[in-house]
Amino acid sequence: MISEQSARRRVSVLGATGSVGRSTMELIAEAPDRFQVEALTAYSNVDVLADLARRFGARFVAIGDPARYRALKQALDGAPCEVAAGPEGLEAAAARDSDWLMAGIVGAAGLSATLSAVRRGALVAFANKEVLVSAGRLMMEEVARAGATLLPVDSEHNAIFQVFEEQNRGAIDRLILTASGGPFRTRPRESLAQVTPAEAVAHPNWDMGAKISVDSATMMNKGLEVIEAHYLFAMPAEKIEVLVHPQSVIHSMVAYSDGSFLAQLGAPDMRIPIAHALAWPRRLKTQSPVLDLAAVARLDFEPPDETRFPALRLAREALAAGPWAPPVMSAANEEAVAAFLQGRIGFLDVTEVVERVVSATAPADPDSIEAVVALDGEARRRASEAIDRLTPATS
Ligand code: NDP
Ligand code: MG
Repeated sequence: MISEQSARRRVSVLGATGSVGRSTMELIAEAPDRFQVEALTAYSNVDVLADLARRFGARFVAIGDPARYRALKQALDGAPCEVAAGPEGLEAAAARDSDWLMAGIVGAAGLSATLSAVRRGALVAFANKEVLVSAGRLMMEEVARAGATLLPVDSEHNAIFQVFEEQNRGAIDRLILTASGGPFRTRPRESLAQVTPAEAVAHPNWDMGAKISVDSATMMNKGLEVIEAHYLFAMPAEKIEVLVHPQSVIHSMVAYSDGSFLAQLGAPDMRIPIAHALAWPRRLKTQSPVLDLAAVARLDFEPPDETRFPALRLAREALAAGPWAPPVMSAANEEAVAAFLQGRIGFLDVTEVVERVVSATAPADPDSIEAVVALDGEARRRASEAIDRLTPATS
């Protein structure tokens, strides 16, 4: 008979202070008999990280910003845990022997830590989509080599994962990723030049971190998700369709050759896909709102508008161009979104910067993670030059 103690799943959370991270911690708190916390990480938010570490009795705590090490060490004075910092600290946290790990860092910054978990053959709940966009092929090779398991957390990919019949892979006609359309779905393109960061992050259905909220508004998020789906499910781009569905009730679908569509539905609450990954292959009881279809009353669908939102087209072009292009696109996008959030460039400039950087880059496919990191760095340099050119000079 397994003891109560050993039956608890030992979990680590990378990006514990973020939107996905905090939802994950909430779910863990609701089921203390099922989970115990091994390692937690953040980038600079010492106070929240230290508070989580104490509350959950984490054994290993890492902060990405090395300058915050002393502050974290002080905040955890007397707590029975190891403290680390910097990229090596994040990698060490991911390498700790946990049964399950949430990859919840935002951006390509999560690459080395996620890789560290994959290389120990971990069960990885996968939210950090930029990692797969940057290093998809190499990452999936590492997953196969190490025998790691990726559990998709992004709501669309989690939905597909729940209805994807691996034994009938050959009978899959296409994957249908649904998209809310973001806060500007019905706005004319001309009016988008003036939108503010506050308007862009105010998503109609989902409560998420700032970067992904802006990506949802430009629809780059859906572009990143097409690439993410391509790698996670080993499906060609032409079999991955995007369908705008403003209510965000159907989180995605798989269409089979016999005419059946299998869909996963739920309230638009990230705690649902996170709970699915956290308990997989079992299920958890959550406090999430229960979907009331009679109250929703109707479900609408429309094709995406790639003229008003060119980011989706850019992502498809990047995927078709070869493995060099998605990391360049995604790194340029990270820089452009950060500049938009700082008020340095306009909303329409975000996609413009991405397009300029990708077209200025000479195609050279990366054959190693180091090569991906180099491509990423070069794309960020080009993006910051493009941003400087767009930024009005201040006198
Ligand atoms: P947040 O910005 O809310 O949180 C990001 C987390 O990563 C924080 O813990 C942050 O630490 C940490 N972090 C930020 N920069 C670095 C860095 N350079 N090195 C190490 N850690 C860092 O992001 P979200 O939770 O919204 O998103 C996380 C990932 O999940 C993204 O890839 C996103 O696309 C994906 N995702 C998110 C969804 C959501 O609902 N939020 C839905 C689907 C996917 P600190 O707090 O100290 O800055
Ligand atoms: Mg999503």
